[in-house]
Amino acid sequence: MPNVTPEQLMQKAMEVRAKAHCPYSKFHVGAALLTESGEIFTGCNVENASYPCGICAERTAITKAVSEGHQKFVAIAVISDAEDVVTPCGICRQTMREFSKDLKVYCAKRDGSYETHTLAELLPHSFGPENLKS
Ligand SMILES: [Zn+2]
Repeated sequence: MPNVTPEQLMQKAMEVRAKAHCPYSKFHVGAALLTESGEIFTGCNVENASYPCGICAERTAITKAVSEGHQKFVAIAVISDAEDVVTPCGICRQTMREFSKDLKVYCAKRDGSYETHTLAELLPHSFGPENLKS
């Protein structure tokens, strides 16, 4: 297990939140993904004038990690600029599920205080790669 605390992961998510490209929603989101090997990949939401082209912070982080050769993840921290706790959207939950059933998901309020969930809580009875095997 990597020696990274949830608070350290959340700090990275807070830092990258400032880089969000969200001129349409004005909803800044940052995510920091911890790999099994202890590396951290960050991501922010990147919106587009053609709205469906936008990508969430969580999937930005996952895409960066996978493209650098990492597919084993232990935790992700997610923070927005909302006062209330933000949780990943459905598409992001399914994207996380591709790589881990047991991912810890730290969902924060704007101030950095957070709740800890597991992906299994956020996406019960999920469909994953093993379901395609006969
Ligand atoms: Zn999402």
